[in-house]
Amino acid sequence: MPASGSYLTLDTPVQYIKGIGPKRAEALHTVHVYTVEDLLTYYPRRYIDRRNVAQIAHLQPGDTVTVVGKVFSGSIQKGKTPRFVLIVGDDTGLLECVWFQGLQYIAKAFRYGEIVAFSGKVSFYRGPQLIHPEYDKLSEEGEKNPLHTGGIIPLYPSSESLSRIGLDSRGFRRIMRNLLEILPGHLEDPLPSEIRNRCQLLHLSEAFENIHFPKDWETLRLAQRRLKFDELFSMQLFLGLERQTRMEEKKGIVFERVGELTKRLIEKLPFELTSAQKRVLHEIRNDMRSSKPMNRLIQGDVGSGKTIVALIAMVIAVENGYQTALMAPTEILAEQHYLSIHSLIDSLGIKIALLKGNQRTGERKKILSGLEDGSIPMVVGTHALIQEGVCFKNLGLVVIDEQHRFGVLQRAELRQKGYYPDVLVMTATPIPRTLALTLYGDLDVSVIDELPKGRKPVRTVWRTEEKRPAIYEFIRTELKKGRQAYVVYPLIEESEKIDLAAAKQGYEMLSKSVFPEFRCALLHGRMKSEEKEKVMQEFKTGEVQVLVTTTVIEVGIDVPNATIMLVEHAERFGLTQLHQLRGRVGRGTEASICILLSDRNLSEEAIQRLKTMEKTNDGFKIAEVDLAMRGPGELFGTKQSGLLRLKIADLVTDGPILTLARKEAQTLLQKDPKLHQPEHHPILQFVKKQYKEKWGLIEVG
Ligand code: ADP
Ligand code: MG
Repeated sequence: MPASGSYLTLDTPVQYIKGIGPKRAEALHTVHVYTVEDLLTYYPRRYIDRRNVAQIAHLQPGDTVTVVGKVFSGSIQKGKTPRFVLIVGDDTGLLECVWFQGLQYIAKAFRYGEIVAFSGKVSFYRGPQLIHPEYDKLSEEGEKNPLHTGGIIPLYPSSESLSRIGLDSRGFRRIMRNLLEILPGHLEDPLPSEIRNRCQLLHLSEAFENIHFPKDWETLRLAQRRLKFDELFSMQLFLGLERQTRMEEKKGIVFERVGELTKRLIEKLPFELTSAQKRVLHEIRNDMRSSKPMNRLIQGDVGSGKTIVALIAMVIAVENGYQTALMAPTEILAEQHYLSIHSLIDSLGIKIALLKGNQRTGERKKILSGLEDGSIPMVVGTHALIQEGVCFKNLGLVVIDEQHRFGVLQRAELRQKGYYPDVLVMTATPIPRTLALTLYGDLDVSVIDELPKGRKPVRTVWRTEEKRPAIYEFIRTELKKGRQAYVVYPLIEESEKIDLAAAKQGYEMLSKSVFPEFRCALLHGRMKSEEKEKVMQEFKTGEVQVLVTTTVIEVGIDVPNATIMLVEHAERFGLTQLHQLRGRVGRGTEASICILLSDRNLSEEAIQRLKTMEKTNDGFKIAEVDLAMRGPGELFGTKQSGLLRLKIADLVTDGPILTLARKEAQTLLQKDPKLHQPEHHPILQFVKKQYKEKWGLIEVG
């Protein structure tokens, strides 16, 4: 039964809304829309201004316009840059709409005779053009319903399967209109009116009305501002509440001794620490000596030597009678860390264990009991180390490698297990200050801004398919000189099977027909860890000369004699990922090269990525470009982790709103630290709802 307004709340399941039956509800679940609130925050992707429809004959270059026209013809035009061109006409003339991307999809999107509204910026080439316009289909006889013509019209994200059951932009518009009609009066604004007034924010009902059906552009901006504020405000409140919990907990550990063991380790290193490493080490020592729990991020480009600094900190912990754990993002990286640390630590008489997912039960049991009774002081593993049932006798220091995740939450997770160790996070991704505060709370940052002496910058070149034979010849020459090479294939989850098959095929071809005189080996994430270890060991010792791999080597693998990297389908990798990969070469004293191989026809973005790689070796610059191109959610893995589910706010471009939200959150928490006052109940509920999966973490303490 459709809901009448009388008992509709933000938590009402969507299937009770008029126009949504069980079938549509099910489809909506696939885009994470379960409740009225989810639907209200299913924001339009764009808007199209239907208030002034322009006539084609009067278009001027540079104008942003909406045109309503009939579809005459459409065709894919091959050539240097393939494109889809659609010819559209109104009573006054003809217009070309052009797409360079998603050709297959867009070519099927229109039918002859359809009436469609197009919106975009006018350019001229032969005649007026709109490049990649927004579009909105009208019914064949034209559209009289003001819902679709009246003003600034919302365009909603949709998909083939949603469209099939009527949930295209038009369908969403109808449902939203319905919903908003029965909503006002029922919506209590969780934001205290005092804050709303001080920050000049719209009422929530007004914001929802205008984000979907804006009165004008200015009101739309105000609606966006209010809804962005909500997201950032609740995030800041969550972080503030977490911080309180942490402050209430017992004091950090005082590591008094920095003695024999640490000195011996430093003496045993085959190199001298760089002055940047020494400086960072000094900062870490000060943290460890003090009773304030260490909460430090080490930033340093790939190859800057973060691991050894962390290892010294770990030895300090052991020397003071505590246990220490190193957590890597993947199992193969954990293994790699284990292998490189093991030899250094063993001769100091420190026991170190590697904990893996698929270890023999006996072996695993032995390690677990060693950690529990304290006889194993040092352990390496993945993040599962703190998630599974691993017990420590006295965990004193946790090092987290390459984890651009929500640092606050990892600490909270540890705390939930009853551990209060010092925490050191290592990352090769430079994080802008405001973002760091947001992602990690009030952490301290150390930067290793110097590479070890003698490193030669890696030369990076971008080549297309026709150069393949020449590339192979070049690699052969280098292999003959005794060098080693990586050949990297992309692998993403969505197309894992096909990608893996491509990597295997590449390996077969390289080992049998291209480099039969050398030893090639294949390494990928689906192999058993003993096999992986064996292959890696053989590559390290030089028995294997060509390592064909998927992205499992992205971070951490360290073979100085490997001086060539060939990246297949380089256009499919993200920028930060390419930089990480490239960091696997250039680790020895010989000059290294990274060859990015791609198709000829690429999107603008892909071209920009590959050109950026050619131009610079500077991780900071690369992160900046990446941030601008992709946004922080992607870059820091927060989107996937579901922790910062920001639907409308953007941590980079919404800096001023973020600052305002942080200030208001701090003021509110000063007045009412736990948000226990009755008038703050709605806002507490609001934050709780936003962070429901993580709420448990901050109530423990
Ligand atoms: P990161 O983790 O920052 O990418 P690593 O800690 O893996 O870098 O170090 C990369 C390589 O450089 C390793 O082989 C390491 O032994 C070596 N290394 C570290 N510090 C120095 C140094 N001061 N001088 C020379 N080589 C170093
Ligand atoms: Mg590293």
